[in-house]
Amino acid sequence: MSTASSAAPPSLSYELYPPVNRDAAESVFSTIAALETTDPDYVSVTYSGSPARRNASLELIEHLIRNTRLRPLAHLTCVGESRDSLQNLIRHFVSLGVRGVLALRGDLPADPGQWCGEFPFARYLIELIREVEADHTAALAGGRLGVGVAAYPMRHPESPSFEHDVEVLLAKERSGANYAITQVYFQAGEYTNLVQASRRAGVSIPIIPGVIPLNSLPRLNRLSKMTGVAPDPILAHALETAGSDAERHRIGVDAAVNLARRAFGDGAAGVHLYTFNDHRGSLDVIEHLELPRTRSDLTNTWAIRAAV
Ligand code: FAD
Repeated sequence: MSTASSAAPPSLSYELYPPVNRDAAESVFSTIAALETTDPDYVSVTYSGSPARRNASLELIEHLIRNTRLRPLAHLTCVGESRDSLQNLIRHFVSLGVRGVLALRGDLPADPGQWCGEFPFARYLIELIREVEADHTAALAGGRLGVGVAAYPMRHPESPSFEHDVEVLLAKERSGANYAITQVYFQAGEYTNLVQASRRAGVSIPIIPGVIPLNSLPRLNRLSKMTGVAPDPILAHALETAGSDAERHRIGVDAAVNLARRAFGDGAAGVHLYTFNDHRGSLDVIEHLELPRTRSDLTNTWAIRAAV
């Protein structure tokens, strides 16, 4: 079965959460070992500005670089950060060997009186990454950092409209983004709409669908709370009424496979799997998709430099 409309093999990537305690660390290490067998193009590591979570992200990135064959994509958020602290972090990423950064704003603090940082939007972080990159041409051997950004098939919760989000995506491309990864979504047509509207607006970077195999209703609800994306009522009902864990697992995998297949039908250049640090669903999705696993040719140009 053909899984992508472009000639290049589709990229494959996973998202991991940095563990914050020993039990979580053991589970993430076994997930990493399992995911490594699928030879992904990169593994993204989420980020949060609190000191403990920032350190956990840096430690996981370092672990991936030193102890595995996996290439990390470092998420970085600019909310609540100064220009100097961000510059230092980007430099640190480069010195560790990171060659791909997902440039994000992060969620605004719940307390409206709290300082939001020097950069109000992700596009300014992209510009800073490009500035730091220019200062590190020797370390990068003249190469460039792959810079990804977030895209929203459903309107971003703070945004006045979906069309505004598309303009923001265009602005992020013009600031130097190489590709986008979508927020979770539940209807295949939402990805189609995003891609069509973005292309009409002049966005030319790849828009990689972010999909997640959900195997329980509490997980779906938690995800919805985290992202602001309303849970799909049909999926919620199916997960709630399923008779066993095995059935819930199958429902989640089938839904994710369907979204990924439809996105490939729309020309998606790859697929990004949100794992929740649980490899079983992701591995089953990959098996069903039968992705050709030579690392994507696109890796050099838009995701991560192959030299890591
Ligand atoms: P932006 O692109 O800056 O957009 C934020 C809001 O501002 C949007 O409503 C946008 O429409 C609006 N906006 C942007 N520019 C302008 C402008 N010039 N004028 C007016 N309005 C504007 N969060 C984390 O904390 N850690 C993570 O690791 C993380 N990983 C993520 C990975 C992916 C793939 C995705 C999709 C999201 C991730 N997030 C993460 C969540 C993300 O930080 C939030 O969705 C955040 O609220 C917005 O981030 P952004 O980069 O899209 O911001």
